[in-house]
Amino acid sequence: MSRADARNALAYAAKLTVAKTLVWTGAMSLRRRTALRRHAVVLAYHRVLPDGSDTASHPGIVVSPETFDRQMSVLKREFRPLTLAEFETHISARRPFEPGACLVTFDDGWIDTFTTAWPILEKYAIPAVVFLPTNYIGTGRVFWQETLGHRLLHARHIARDDAAQLSGIGRALDACGLAGLAGVVARGSRPELLEAIRRLKLDPALDPGLAIAALDDALGAGAGQLPLDRFMTWDEVRALAQRGLAFGAHGHTHHILSRMASGVLTTDLEMARDAMTRELGTRPTALSYPNGGWNDEVIAAAAAAQFRTGFTMDRGHVSADDAPFALRRMNIHDGLTRDAALFRGRVLGIF
Ligand SMILES: [Zn+2]
Repeated sequence: MSRADARNALAYAAKLTVAKTLVWTGAMSLRRRTALRRHAVVLAYHRVLPDGSDTASHPGIVVSPETFDRQMSVLKREFRPLTLAEFETHISARRPFEPGACLVTFDDGWIDTFTTAWPILEKYAIPAVVFLPTNYIGTGRVFWQETLGHRLLHARHIARDDAAQLSGIGRALDACGLAGLAGVVARGSRPELLEAIRRLKLDPALDPGLAIAALDDALGAGAGQLPLDRFMTWDEVRALAQRGLAFGAHGHTHHILSRMASGVLTTDLEMARDAMTRELGTRPTALSYPNGGWNDEVIAAAAAAQFRTGFTMDRGHVSADDAPFALRRMNIHDGLTRDAALFRGRVLGIF
């Protein structure tokens, strides 16, 4: 275990002790009665994958099927899961939520939403909404983070004991301004490598396409794609829509909306809306902002594109009086909420 992994494990254990104490003393149920008396909590999930899955997705967007099953059983017993339509009615009518109201959301439309999350949602009869980046659905392509992650994991695997390969990969990274990653490829753990890629999201100078092409040159052909790292097809989306799952938009290109020029922003939202309308036969009402990036201009463009609600990644609960395009969510992943006590604490805004 690396030092960073050990630090995370220690922080998790400390939080778990606090959470269990809050459950044991009754403070957690008191909090449930007060925090969610007139507010709703919106949970943001991304992927549901078994531990040890061969994926290049960052652990911060993954829960295991066991964790997800446990969490849905907690929601079913202790909270009041709403459909997207019910949730949006509260927002548009400014009608306070009933105690314990919650909404389950998924970003991205990964294949495991279809194969793994859906059967668990169906088992507990919990409604949910899935936000789709329309330019990726049914195309076989994935986000640059997973593509780059897969190349670097592959590089790490083949270059560990091969100094010549490693220096070739180092030169490729250097040429596209990613020299800092060479050390992580050579010596870092898998989580450290995925964390280094996550941090690149904030680097405006990064050209991910260039980096991926440079690595493909250095690695030769055959890196391929990881089978688990793909999105649903439109047929899979339609099959879930027929069973009652709701869908919203997550941009067209999945680029950060708040960094777009205004013409590009409008086009991105309109293309997402039109693709969903064409493929599903109904216009999407809800939008979640890729990477949680939003500002006043994004809100104006979303309203002009006829969306009714916009979901951020800002942490917090939702009041029916909140601005409809700045709705807060609680991000959920295994590193925060593997135990039920920590999940309850997260939902209630304690952690
Ligand atoms: Zn996303």
